[in-house]
Amino acid sequence: MNRALLLCLTMLWTLPATAYELSPEEVAPGVWVFEGRQEHFTRENQGDIANTGFIVTGAGVIVIDTGPSARYGRAMHAAIRDVTREPVIAVYITHAHPDHFLGNQAFPEVPIVALPATIEAIKRDGDALTDNLYRMVGAAMEGTDPVVPGHEAIPNRYKVGDRELKFIAAAGHSGKVASDLMILDRTAGVLFAGDVVFHDRAPTTPHADVSAWIAQLDALSELDFRVLVPGHGPVARNHDPIEQTRTYLRWLDAHLREAADAGVHIVEFMNQPLPDRFAALAVAREEYKRSVAHLYPPLEQARLQPLERP
Ligand SMILES: [Zn+2]
Repeated sequence: MNRALLLCLTMLWTLPATAYELSPEEVAPGVWVFEGRQEHFTRENQGDIANTGFIVTGAGVIVIDTGPSARYGRAMHAAIRDVTREPVIAVYITHAHPDHFLGNQAFPEVPIVALPATIEAIKRDGDALTDNLYRMVGAAMEGTDPVVPGHEAIPNRYKVGDRELKFIAAAGHSGKVASDLMILDRTAGVLFAGDVVFHDRAPTTPHADVSAWIAQLDALSELDFRVLVPGHGPVARNHDPIEQTRTYLRWLDAHLREAADAGVHIVEFMNQPLPDRFAALAVAREEYKRSVAHLYPPLEQARLQPLERP
C-alpha cells in the first residue's frame, strides 16, 4: 500500500505527531547517547525505543544509528548541532532493524556505512519494515522512507580526529553471519554494542541466531571498555548487561528445547509464567511470546520423526 495512504488511514485514529524530545547525555568526554524508552513501538512514544549516539572526534562527528523515522533523525541532527560546531562526517548503522536506521534521511550529505549483510537486509526488507512501522507508530513516520547505506563497513581500527575507533563485526542478534556492527571508542573506553546487548529489557529475537549470539556475548565479556551503550536500556559502567543478555538467551534456548522435547503445545507454552528474574525485564511477556512464536515451531518440527514406509 502507498505510504501516504497508509499514513492517512493510521491518522484517522491517532493524534498528530509531536516533536521528539531528544536530549543527549555525555557518557564520556565527547561521547553522547540518546536513550530510548524501554517500550514497544506505540503512537505515543513515536518509535523512540532504541539508543542512538554520536562521537565528537575533533575531525567531525560520527553518528551511530539514526532512530525510527526521518523526523527523529532531523531532531537528532539538530541536537548534535546544539552540542558541537563540528559537522557530521559519517553515519554508522549497527543493524537492519527499523528503530535503528529509519532516520537516515536526515543525513543526506553524509556517507552512511553498515556491514554488507546489513546493507543487503535493508535493500531486501527495508520497505516492509518501514510500512510496518507506519502501522504501529502512525503520524511520526510522515515522510519516512528507507535509505540503504551506500558504504560497507570494514572491521578494523581507525584513527579519526583525536580518537582511535575499532569497528567490530558481530553476529547473533540480527543473523548468523556478521550483521551486527559494534563500535569501540578505545580513546574514551566506550563500546556501542548495538542490539548485541540489551539492558533491563528482554532481548528481541526475530532475526536472531541464538547460538551465535551467545557465542558473541562470550567473546564480548572479554573485551576491555569502561562504558557500555546497549542497543536498548540504560548505559552501564560495567559488563553486567552482557551477562544479563547472555543469561536470558541461555535460559530461552534451553527452555524452548525442553518444551519441544516434552511435546508441550505452543499456546500452553507461550502462557507459562516467566521466572521472576526475567519477568522483571521491560516488555518481558511480549518479547517472550514473539520469541516463542518464531523459534518454537522449527524445534517442534525437528522432533517429528518421519514414519518409515511399510
Ligand atoms: Zn535489533
